[in-house]
Amino acid sequence: MSILTIELIERVKSSRIRWLDLQFTDLLGYLRHVTISTDMLTPDSVRDSLGKLDGSSVKGFVGVEESDLVLKPFPETFALIPWVEGLGRVICGVYFQGDRLSRDPRYVAEKIDSMLVSQGLKPFVSAELEFYIFDKVSVSIDSWRQFFEIMSSEAPWNGTAFVNRTKDGYYSVYPKDRFYELKMEIGDVLKKYFGIDIEVVHHEVAAASQHEINFRGGMTTWEADAIQTVKFVVRAMAFRKGYIATFMPKPIYGDNGSGMHVHVSIWRGDDNLFYDENDGYAHLSEYARYFIGGLIEHGRALSAIVNPTVNSYKRLVPGYEAPIYLVWSRGNRSAAIRVPMYSNSKRSIRIEYRPPDPSANPYLALVAILLAGLDGVKKKISPGDPVDENIYKLSPERRKALGVKELPRSLDEALDELESDYEWLKPIFSQDLIESYIELKREEARKIMSYPTPIEIYHYLDV
Ligand code: GLU
Ligand code: MG
Ligand code: MG
Repeated sequence: MSILTIELIERVKSSRIRWLDLQFTDLLGYLRHVTISTDMLTPDSVRDSLGKLDGSSVKGFVGVEESDLVLKPFPETFALIPWVEGLGRVICGVYFQGDRLSRDPRYVAEKIDSMLVSQGLKPFVSAELEFYIFDKVSVSIDSWRQFFEIMSSEAPWNGTAFVNRTKDGYYSVYPKDRFYELKMEIGDVLKKYFGIDIEVVHHEVAAASQHEINFRGGMTTWEADAIQTVKFVVRAMAFRKGYIATFMPKPIYGDNGSGMHVHVSIWRGDDNLFYDENDGYAHLSEYARYFIGGLIEHGRALSAIVNPTVNSYKRLVPGYEAPIYLVWSRGNRSAAIRVPMYSNSKRSIRIEYRPPDPSANPYLALVAILLAGLDGVKKKISPGDPVDENIYKLSPERRKALGVKELPRSLDEALDELESDYEWLKPIFSQDLIESYIELKREEARKIMSYPTPIEIYHYLDV
């Protein structure tokens, strides 16, 4: 029996919980769980088959013909769920007939961490999570009138919209930031129970109650687990107070969307490989520039993974601090790749990839970002010159002269790109995972794009 198994059983016993949530993430990025009685927890059950599941009911996993999957826990992810007495959670790996399921997203993250560690390297990844908190009543769209109110970013559909002007919510104080206590409570719970160090919470730019949470990053798997945990806790704690927290990329027309910017550096021991003390531009090493080159080279295909919903592309429009062009620059919030310039120290030099949004499956997204960058390093892909001007305002001629590539404008366009450019994912993503992912996403795009929406009725009813 492994030390970890003993540890899990000990921790469950000493915390006197009666129920244990076995959590895992499906291919689309939804966290799922099955709750087992802790009486089931024996050394044998932990080793063999703690949780059983019908994989054919989990989108993208397996067909009905071979649907019996098994969950095995990662004891280091055990935590108490403080809002339910007697309940704990543990994140699990998904297994098929004794082997890890190739489509288990967490497995993908574990693989890249081991690959890098075997090369003497360590990724340091951290994500900024943006989200909205809405009054429950406001999201039940039960009439056209209400819908058109919602389409307007100034709609009085929650308290803060009355007092914050569009795009003027940034760092608002109470009472404009009416959820600041809730955010503090969320931060306390994440730290105390889940071991996630929240560094900053604040009101974001969008008027109607948009917020951001930043927490200390880590290796790929750790960080993706943390993103799933933060989303879970934010949603649950908001819901328990009667609110809906949403990580939808662009819930409101005419104001900022919600991003999930990803910061990356790669380390060899104490050396940050992205840092060069002598470098003239942003202290970036050649290694980091090639990494950026890889992100620009594969950025269009990468969108299918980091911007995986139809709604994602409503965020990637000019004027809302979300990127539209694949260029890099220091400080510049209109660039897809920014080199944050708060400090020039060796410790803090990193790149920020700004296209991702929080509808992405964090395991797949973080790994795909790393793989695109590492492909650039391997092939020594030049990122071209940085673009330090406001990119939203570049004329088409200037864009052409600079050779600027655009991000895809729709999920379908991104999927076309991924279909023709995915070799760089192959060191870690299995072929069947990529195929299953593309198939699911095509289906989703087809379905959602074929619905006439209220705004179309508004514009075209009268044609
Ligand atoms: N909300 C913006 C986005 O969609 C980002 C704002 C910021 O720079 O924090 O990416
Ligand atoms: Mg932000
Ligand atoms: Mg950012």
